[in-house]
Amino acid sequence: MDIYGKEITKLIDELAALPGIGRKSAQRIAFHLISAPEERVRALADAMVSAKKHVHYCRECYNLTDEELCPICSNPSRNHRVIMVVENTRDLAAYEKTGRYDGVYHVLHGAISPMLGIGPGDIKLKELMKRLEGDVDEVIIATNSSLEGETTAMYIAKLVKPTGIRVTRIASGVPVGGDLENIDEVTLLRALEGRMEL
Ligand code: ZN
Repeated sequence: MDIYGKEITKLIDELAALPGIGRKSAQRIAFHLISAPEERVRALADAMVSAKKHVHYCRECYNLTDEELCPICSNPSRNHRVIMVVENTRDLAAYEKTGRYDGVYHVLHGAISPMLGIGPGDIKLKELMKRLEGDVDEVIIATNSSLEGETTAMYIAKLVKPTGIRVTRIASGVPVGGDLENIDEVTLLRALEGRMEL
């Protein structure tokens, strides 16, 4: 039943289509926007359109950025010889929040999943191997502990080992199937410090 008219319903539908926003929250946001000053709403809309237009992958690590290199890759005080491999930018953000990792990252944008038909060619693996032609001391595999994450970790270990570069895997203790972004910082640090040779 349409009780608000089609403009509000359209807005609620669009908001409810966003991840993590249910119908109720969508309604609350819609009413908030309608009662907010027009310049606030315009600033939000502009930020969305502008980010969509200017944000792309970092040339080096495939993090999201609006520069050629993301702030982590262009930071000379980070250790560029240690690369932590994560499935997505949210996992990268989770490790950055700990403030204790000073290496760089490589974002795969997915994990190998034969069931979903996602193969090694569908994630940023070739790009990782290309980076390993440079000076790299260690690859830390921090994919999730889900079946896909483990499959991906094993696959990467097999590729990297012949290069002679040290390959490690973050310790378990990270709940099975758990998204890294939902895990507290202490657990993440423990997983990083307890990483094991593969
Ligand atoms: Zn980067």
